Amino acid sequence: TPAAPQPYRPTKRTAKDYIFGKLIGEGCYSTVFLAKDIHTGKEYAIKVCEKLYIIRHKKREYVKREKDALNKLFNVPHGFVKLYCTFQDDERLYFVLSYAKNGELLPYINKVGSFELNVAKFYAAELLLALEKMHALGIIHRDLKPENILLDENMHLQIADFGTAKILPPEEIRSNDPCTVPVEEDDDSPGRNDRSRKISFVGTAQYVSPDLLQNRVNTRASDLWAFGCIVYQMISPYLPGGSFEGAEEYTVPDHLEPGFGNNQLVRLWEFDLSTSRGILNISPEERRRRLEVQARENKWHQFVGGELILKQGLVEKRKGLFARRRMLLLTTGPRMFYVDPVNMVLKGEIPWSPELRVEAKNFRIFLVHTVRILSIIIAFI
Ligand code: ATP
Repeated sequence: TPAAPQPYRPTKRTAKDYIFGKLIGEGCYSTVFLAKDIHTGKEYAIKVCEKLYIIRHKKREYVKREKDALNKLFNVPHGFVKLYCTFQDDERLYFVLSYAKNGELLPYINKVGSFELNVAKFYAAELLLALEKMHALGIIHRDLKPENILLDENMHLQIADFGTAKILPPEEIRSNDPCTVPVEEDDDSPGRNDRSRKISFVGTAQYVSPDLLQNRVNTRASDLWAFGCIVYQMISPYLPGGSFEGAEEYTVPDHLEPGFGNNQLVRLWEFDLSTSRGILNISPEERRRRLEVQARENKWHQFVGGELILKQGLVEKRKGLFARRRMLLLTTGPRMFYVDPVNMVLKGEIPWSPELRVEAKNFRIFLVHTVRILSIIIAFI
């Protein structure tokens, strides 16, 4: 039979070759955007990682693994998200991936409680075929779960998120042994700070195999254990864990400026942290309207002296050994206030100064480094 035509892989690309349309997903180390190639009009999911964050959190290996695994899987015709190209600029790494238009499998399972048997059989078969191909190439995924299984426009599944994958050396791929790989210590893995636990593992607790827990080894069978858990989840009357929002139709508009510079960040994010002027990118009327809504509906409005709150989130404010919960409010000033959420009193303000530095983890979570040696993790919800 003639070889299937190879999918087209663009050569040299930069962020300027794409129009970034909207945010479609967030992981621990990345933010994913729907973007359009300005040369071909084709849509892609572009995964963006902040270099500083990756280095600081020792995740270089994670990013490299994902790239290596996806490169190995590129010519497998079905079952995997495809990595078309990668590029970088001074601050970020970009992965240009096939766009799985129907998102994650999990909300579909949650919506119906459990799949009809035929549907479950269909996805079990698709998943098993994909695992067989993946294992034949010497790749163990190690974090299979419905959140990492995406659906393309025809509702076929595509496995994603190979950051914790293990790529076996060639001699182990050929052998028939089950390929045991000692569990690696992972800096951020669950249980790292818990002295009562000896095991540190990659993966997600609900889908972790007994092999891994008892013998501290990863095998191809660990993926099959996760496969079993997913099949169980598809057919058992599982309690819905989250709400399902119907997939909304969205295509990236053509008139937007390509690239991933400050202009685009301001558009995608709605505000500009790189400058202390004109921090919110909206008209005066829109600003007035939002202020009215805020005064009516936001209980933190009373603390910000009539300014518009851009982002708010609970933080742990550390002082020596003790941590106190505070509500941190970033306003258009730009100013940052913090409030005791129990007693509802304003406790202070973090002075805005040229030394203040923001390190983005992704688009919702970032670290603020202030003049004093104080870092605050802000989780804006
Ligand atoms: P994790 O925290 O799971 O390790 P990560 O930083 O590696 O995350 P991913 O899980 O790969 O990031 O992506 C985050 C989310 O973005 C996914 O759960 C999914 O909702 C969305 N996403 C990722 N890739 C695609 C894609 N190719 N098409 C559509 N959506 C995607």
